Amino acid sequence: MTPPALDLVEHARANGYAVGAFNVHSPETTQALLLAAERTSTPLFLQVGRAVIPHMGLRAAYEMTVRTAAESDAVHVIHLDHGTEAEVLEALRLGFTSIMYDGAHLPFEENIAATRRLTRIAHDFGAMVEAELGRIPDADEDVDWDAYYTDPGEAERFVAETGVDVLAISAGVVHGVPLTTASPLAIDRIEKIRALVDVPLVLHGASGLTPTEISDAIRAGVHKLNLDTDLRFAFRRGIEETWAAGDRQLETALARGRELMAEATVTKMADFGCLGRAQDVTLVDSSPTRSW
Ligand SMILES: [Zn+2]
Repeated sequence: MTPPALDLVEHARANGYAVGAFNVHSPETTQALLLAAERTSTPLFLQVGRAVIPHMGLRAAYEMTVRTAAESDAVHVIHLDHGTEAEVLEALRLGFTSIMYDGAHLPFEENIAATRRLTRIAHDFGAMVEAELGRIPDADEDVDWDAYYTDPGEAERFVAETGVDVLAISAGVVHGVPLTTASPLAIDRIEKIRALVDVPLVLHGASGLTPTEISDAIRAGVHKLNLDTDLRFAFRRGIEETWAAGDRQLETALARGRELMAEATVTKMADFGCLGRAQDVTLVDSSPTRSW
């Protein structure tokens, strides 16, 4: 079941919560996310992210996600995370209904021009467009945050000139979980950006944030939260637990990882305030059958 992606985020904005966007890596991790969504009637974004594309290719990742989701009645949107221009164009042809274009490597003016062009194309395909402004570092980077935070004035111009539907911002979180210092989540920066920008905001790298930080971010204007690392830890725990008890079939370990990841996803959905929201969005009839 796939509602228009932007409706999902706008519903979150109108009702004061955030919708979760979680990465797919394999059939089992995709199933884990769908199980969490089904068990709690929660809508979600299934993200084809930076790691899975070199692993299996964009087309195979999309087809795997579509096939797995077809066996579920979870309300979902399939989203491309951090796409290059070529990946965005391929994703639209494949049938993605939500894409993020990452033009962060370009100078600001060129980023605006490229994002505007791709946004027009994506809108012709009926897809939601996300872009990111400011730099979101990796967990192991040394960071001078002033150089990384999204500049509110630039955000205002960027959204007005590109026409993007949602904007990912840098406000203190990183990709991955920082192992040494706590992330300095800048709620005041989010509020400043929201005051100037009329589209919903997105925060990447929500792993490691406390439930309080998450609800503060939502109150400040964030209505899509991307999260991967904490769920990967849960999946890994399932595998390690299984093999710590002696040699087992690979499938036994993967199934345990899937279950622990599903449970961890429900916990995150509760933090995001999105549990049970699928009932509020329009459903398309389907009758899935499956064996997992
Ligand atoms: Zn990201």
